[in-house]
Amino acid sequence: MSSRKTFDVVVIGAGVFGAWTAWHLAKRGQRVALIEAYGPGHSRASSGGETRIIRMGYGADELYTRWSQRSLTQWKGFFAATRQPLFLETGVLWMAGDKDKRLEQTSATLKRCDITFEELDRAALEKRYPQIGLDGIERGILEPKSGVLMARRAVAAVVEDAVRLGVEYRCAQATNPREAGRVEHIRTGRGERIAAGQFVFACGPWLGKVFPDVLGTLIFVSRQEVFFFGIPAGDTRFTAPPLPTWLFQEDLVYGMPDIEGRGLKIAFDEHGERVDPDTQSRIVSPTMTEAVRKYAARRFPALKDAPIVETRVCQYENTSNGDFLIDRHPEMENVWSVGGGSGHGFKHGPAVGEYVAGLLLDGAPVEVRFSLETKATTQNRAVY
Ligand SMILES: Cc1cc2nc3c(=O)[nH]c(=O)nc-3n(C[C@H](O)[C@H](O)[C@H](O)COP(=O)(O)OP(=O)(O)OC[C@H]3O[C@@H](n4cnc5c(N)ncnc54)[C@H](O)[C@@H]3O)c2cc1C
Repeated sequence: MSSRKTFDVVVIGAGVFGAWTAWHLAKRGQRVALIEAYGPGHSRASSGGETRIIRMGYGADELYTRWSQRSLTQWKGFFAATRQPLFLETGVLWMAGDKDKRLEQTSATLKRCDITFEELDRAALEKRYPQIGLDGIERGILEPKSGVLMARRAVAAVVEDAVRLGVEYRCAQATNPREAGRVEHIRTGRGERIAAGQFVFACGPWLGKVFPDVLGTLIFVSRQEVFFFGIPAGDTRFTAPPLPTWLFQEDLVYGMPDIEGRGLKIAFDEHGERVDPDTQSRIVSPTMTEAVRKYAARRFPALKDAPIVETRVCQYENTSNGDFLIDRHPEMENVWSVGGGSGHGFKHGPAVGEYVAGLLLDGAPVEVRFSLETKATTQNRAVY
């Protein structure tokens, strides 16, 4: 069976990277097909959570600060144009001890990029956020204009708008291309053939399975558990604005205020065990439940006995150091891999899509940090 149409580009994967790539390509007049196995932002996808942080702070790493800045403008423009309030300006609060160097670096980068922020000392933190347990914390940075993206709904909205722009969306699983040189078409699990000039595989944690020879050892898929703690009845201290989105930098723990009554979100950013996105259990583990409970009691004493009201198990699709992977396949000249979001990619969806459209349509050079050749087979995380 062969699809009669030939597309300019087929994008495989409708997570945040694939959705924005299809959207930007369509905006630039391309005939695009978007192929997705399960549905945009589905429960097993890395983009499938309810909420994702968008923050500008990346220590000294100006590249990602600028990409966040650019993406936030696009997210806000998109939500305004489509009349969907899926960005919540909760503010983002970084907290760290006095030995931490990264807050200083963040503050220098934010200044350079002209981003609004406020520095808070311990006394100011205590006064403004009495609901937070601040042991070990001496300083904070508040990004008042940053916040939370309603993740899976935002992905669905981008796909819906891409379709309005002419993208052909199909629910199908693409089989792995195997030919060297130029790929003429991909096949779906139903035996359909879809022809195009270029193919973008934005398959997130599945990239290593799609291209096992090239990416099997370069994408490290790690299990990540997320918890939501029920807020005491009538207590408004855990919603925004009293509580912004927060990150305890040295603890590698982050979370959000109570959004849409789901409870206070808490997650450990440390990489969990390696997993397969198709088969890993989506039920949280007793060990992590215990650890997160203890942490919640320490940082939010009023939630010491709070019930866990929801949980999620997702996965990061890490590269060796946390830089994205956006590059041409080494043997298939018109095939691209786009992924490696590494636990921080969601916010960058718009900038990633725009960059990929530039690569495909303008022959723009590959940013070295995103290239395949900079990816290693052992993990040494450098981007947070
Ligand atoms: C718990 C958790 C918290 C996070 N928090 C944040 C945060 O606060 N801020 C932030 O910026 N980032 C965060 N991230 C990271 C961010 O969510 C990811 O980097 C981003 O969503 C990755 O998007 P993606 O499009 O690359 O992958 P995915 O969303 O996984 O999309 C890939 C898609 O490809 C499809 N696919 C794969 N193979 C095929 C095939 N053969 N045929 C058809 N379809 C296929 C899949 O079904 C899937 O829908 C977090 C991630 C997790 C797991």
